[in-house]
Amino acid sequence: METLKIFCPATIANVSCGFDVLGLALDAVGDEMVVRKSAKKGISITKLEGQNLPTETHLNVAGVAGMALLEQSDYQGGFEIEIYKKIKAGSGIGSSAASSAGAVWAMNELLGKPFTTAKLVEFAMEGERLASGVAHADNVAPALFGGFTLVRSYHPLDIVEIPFPSELFATVIHPQIEVKTADSRKILKTSIRLQDGIKQWGNVGGLIAGLFLEDYALIGRSLHDHIVEPIRSILIPGFDDIKSGALSAGALGSGISGSGPSIFALSQGEETAQNVGETMKKIYQDIGVDYDVHVSKINREGIKILD
Ligand code: ADP
Repeated sequence: METLKIFCPATIANVSCGFDVLGLALDAVGDEMVVRKSAKKGISITKLEGQNLPTETHLNVAGVAGMALLEQSDYQGGFEIEIYKKIKAGSGIGSSAASSAGAVWAMNELLGKPFTTAKLVEFAMEGERLASGVAHADNVAPALFGGFTLVRSYHPLDIVEIPFPSELFATVIHPQIEVKTADSRKILKTSIRLQDGIKQWGNVGGLIAGLFLEDYALIGRSLHDHIVEPIRSILIPGFDDIKSGALSAGALGSGISGSGPSIFALSQGEETAQNVGETMKKIYQDIGVDYDVHVSKINREGIKILD
């Protein structure tokens, strides 16, 4: 096998209470990539369509993540990468993660799988370091493992796959403004109040238990963020209205997707998730904000081979 064409899913990181540790993969939206072995050493980004992004290896997250893998590989050749972006950069649904994870996943397949998925997360995190200044794993882990993932620890890296109920659907609305992850990190405080920490880790535990137990009500009760959302939501037009609209349309919970500006909601069943999307759309139409909406089941496989 010399060439692979793959689907690289969009991802929702943080999932309200799990800042930098929780994430989930989507099915309905993602990039495509073609990765090919080449005799020339290193990584070349030979095509990039759909977005205006750098193609120099050291400026593109796919190049940086790919180089991290090559540095630990015996392989003497290189790779050519074509990227077809469908996920807008700076949308908060893991645009950079899709490229970082996709590059290293496909390279590993083409090399005969010398690296574990956990190791691929480490390589892909180097792409995230380029995109946001911080090597976070909460988007690249669900992109690579699929489903819901928990980063239990960063040092050492310990990723846990979390089972989840099959009727769980996500709705994401992306207001057409760009918020750079690096900027939305700068406004965060570096310390938290103990009372807020208590609420937050109660909710993280509750969300994990709710996912395991397939207890939708518990999932809903746990989808709260007392630490990051109150600060970051200021950057997102109509955030409070969209969130309360989603809840009144039947969503289990709603919050900021990643670093925003996308807003996500989780629902039981596709019909409710669609209704949530319609309600969100109306709110942005009323206040005159352009948007994209995605309704998706949770993607269990992560990155997939396309024919
Ligand atoms: P998101 O949360 O949607 O990934 P970020 O703001 O974290 O958005 O990342 C986008 C940043 O990463 C931009 O500055 C962009 O120029 C840079 N970048 C480099 N290569 C890529 C790529 N292949 N795909 C997406 N973004 C990339």
